[in-house]
Amino acid sequence: MTPDPHAHAVPSLAPATVAVTAGRPSRVQGGPVNPPVVLSSTYVSRGIPGDEPLYARGGTETWESFEQALAALEGGEHGIVLGSGMAAIAAAIGDLPPGSTVVVPRHAYQVTLGYLDDRAARYDVEVRRVDVADTEAVVAALDGADLLVVESPTNPMLEIADLPALLAAARDRGVRSVVDNTFATPLGQQPLALGADVVVHSVTKYLSGHTDIVLGAVVTNDDRIAADVRSYRTLHGAIAGPMEVFLALRGLRTLHLRVERAAANAVELARRLHDHPAVAEVRHPSLPDDPGHGRAAAQMAHFGAVVGVRPVGGRGAADALVDAVRLWVPATSLGGVESLLERRRRLATESPTVPEDLVRLSVGVEDVEDLWADLAQALERATA
Ligand SMILES: *Cc1c(COP(=O)(O)O)cnc(C)c1O
Repeated sequence: MTPDPHAHAVPSLAPATVAVTAGRPSRVQGGPVNPPVVLSSTYVSRGIPGDEPLYARGGTETWESFEQALAALEGGEHGIVLGSGMAAIAAAIGDLPPGSTVVVPRHAYQVTLGYLDDRAARYDVEVRRVDVADTEAVVAALDGADLLVVESPTNPMLEIADLPALLAAARDRGVRSVVDNTFATPLGQQPLALGADVVVHSVTKYLSGHTDIVLGAVVTNDDRIAADVRSYRTLHGAIAGPMEVFLALRGLRTLHLRVERAAANAVELARRLHDHPAVAEVRHPSLPDDPGHGRAAAQMAHFGAVVGVRPVGGRGAADALVDAVRLWVPATSLGGVESLLERRRRLATESPTVPEDLVRLSVGVEDVEDLWADLAQALERATA
C-alpha cells in the first residue's frame, strides 16, 4: 500500500489527528477511505522475482495500514503486527544466546516473567528481577547485562520507572532496551523518544479497546531489529489474522477519546477510593501521595486507567468485593471500554510480592457516577 501523501505532508500533527488519519489508503477518486480487508491466503503470482504479496504469512495490505498508524503514534519508523502481545514480546526479546543476562521488573506482566524464567530454566540465561522504581538498583543490575525489559506503570503494582534515566543507562552500557507500553499507550508516553530501542504492545488492550481480539505489535526505529522481528514473525508463524487487524485499526481511530475518558474516570475513582473508610490502600500515579506521582507527572501525558485497591479486611474482603459488583465485570485483562476488576493473586503465577488482597481495576469509559455507585455499594457489602 502506498502511504497517503496528504496524511504525511504535515509532520507535526497532534496524536488525536494521527490516530484518525494515519495509515489510510492513497486518496484516489472513487477509492475506499479505509483499507480493504483481504481474506486470501495466497496471491496470484507467476514467479517473477520481487512479486509481492505472495502468501499471507508474509504480509497483507490490512496489516500495513495498522502498522503505519501505530508506528506514527509511537513516533517510530517500523510498526510490526503479530498474533498476540506475547508473540510481540517474544519477538522483541529475540535470541537470548547462552550466557545472556536480562534485567526485568519484579512486578511485570506475569507471562513476560514466565517466558524469561522458561528461558533461564532451559538455557544458560540469567534473569535479574529488580524494583523498577529504584533507579540506582536497576542501573547497577544493567552492568554486564544484554537486555532490559521495562514496564511503566508496572502490572499490577503501578510502579513508575524513571524511563529517561534507565533508557540512557542501558544505551551507555550497550544494553538493548524493550519497553512494554501497553498500560500507558503512545498517548501517555512515547518510549522511543525517551531512548528505548523497541516498544511492544498488547494490542488486545487499549489500542484495539473493545475486548474482542488478541493481538500484539512491535515498534522500532532500528532497521536490523525490525528485520529480525519480521523474520521471527514469519519463521514462528506468529502472524495476525486480517479480521483482527481490521478490528484493531477500527479501535485505534478512537484511541484518544477512549483513553482520555478512561484516564479521567480513573483519576476520579482513585481520589474517591483514597478517601473511603473501607479502603486500606489505593495505587494510582495520579494520587499526590503515590510514590510514582512525581515521575509520572514529569514523563507521562496521563496517569493511565488501571487502579490498584486493597480493601479493609484483606483477601476475604477482596474476593467479596469482586463478588459484589454488578456493573463492573469480574474478569482479567484491561484496556477495553468496559470496566473490569480482579484479585490478581487468584492467579497462581502472579508474583508473591503482590499483596494477596490487591484488586486491579481496569477503568472503562462508562459514566463515572455509575461506576462509583457500584464500587461503593460493593465495598460496603464486602467490608460489612
Ligand atoms: C496483556 C498484556 C500482555 C500480553 O498480551 P497478549 O495480547 O495477551 O498476548 C503483555 N504485557 C502487558 C502489560 C499486558 O497487559
